[in-house]
Amino acid sequence: MSAEALLSLDSVTACYGRLPVLHDVNLDIKPGEIVALIGANGAGKTTTMMTIFGRPRASQGRIVFHGKDIAQLPTHDIARLGIAQSPEGRRIFPRMTVMENLQMGAIIAGDPDGFDRDLEHVQTLFPVLKERADQRGGTLSGASSRCLAIARALMGQPKLLMLDEPSLGLAPLIVKQIFAAIEELNKDGLTVFLVEQNAYHTLKLADRGYVMVNGRITMSGTGAELLERKEVRAAYLEGD
Ligand code: ATP
Repeated sequence: MSAEALLSLDSVTACYGRLPVLHDVNLDIKPGEIVALIGANGAGKTTTMMTIFGRPRASQGRIVFHGKDIAQLPTHDIARLGIAQSPEGRRIFPRMTVMENLQMGAIIAGDPDGFDRDLEHVQTLFPVLKERADQRGGTLSGASSRCLAIARALMGQPKLLMLDEPSLGLAPLIVKQIFAAIEELNKDGLTVFLVEQNAYHTLKLADRGYVMVNGRITMSGTGAELLERKEVRAAYLEGD
C-alpha cells in the first residue's frame, strides 16, 4: 500500500452472500489522479466501487481513505468523509425536480450549508441543470439525467468522486462532453475513480488504470501504457 494514497484497497475480498466476487484486490488512488478500472461485463468493477462504499462489505482486507480504515463503516459515514459515488444508469430520484435531487446530494454529503456554492459550480459545469431546474428527474433525457447524477455526487465537494460507467448508452458527442467535464473537474483538483467498459476514452483520460478479470486485478499501468498493451487492445479495444 502506498503511503501517499488518498484511497488504498489492500487485499480486499468481497462476496455476494457466499459467492466470492472480488479476490485479493489491491488498488491505490493518489490525490489528484484519475484512476480507471476497466474490464468486461461482470468482471467485478461495480462491485469494487460498491465495496469501497460499504455495500457489500469487504470480507477481508483493508480499505484506507485518508489514513483511516473505512472497511467496516456504514455507507453514510463513508459519504461524509468525502467519497461520492455516481452509480451506473439513471440513478436519480425520478419524482423529485432537478433542484431537489441536488439538495438531496448536499444532504447525503452532510453539507447542506454549502448548497448555494455547490449549486453554482454544477450549473456552470452542466448548464442544462439550470435550464431544467424545476423539471422532474424522471422526465429528463438520458444525457441530462447522467449529468444530474454526476452533479448530485459533486454536491458537498467530495475528495474522491467515483463514477460507474458515465458514458454507458450515450451518443458519442455526449460521451465527449461528459469526459471533458470529468477532465475539467480533475484539473480543478478533484480525484476521480472511473469504472468503465469504454476502455479507449477512459485510458486516454486516466493517469493510471487497472484491468479486472473475474474479480482479480490482472494488469496495471499508466493509461498510455495500458493502451499499448496488446492484451488490452485485443480484449477491450476491438472496434474502437
Ligand atoms: P458490468 O459492467 O456488467 O456492471 P461489472 O464488472 O461491474 O460488470 P459487477 O456488476 O461487479 O461487474 O458483477 C460482478 C459479479 O457479481 C457478476 O458475476 C454479477 O453477476 C455478480 N453480482 C453483481 N451484483 C450482484 C448482486 N447484487 N447479487 C449477487 N451477485 C451479483
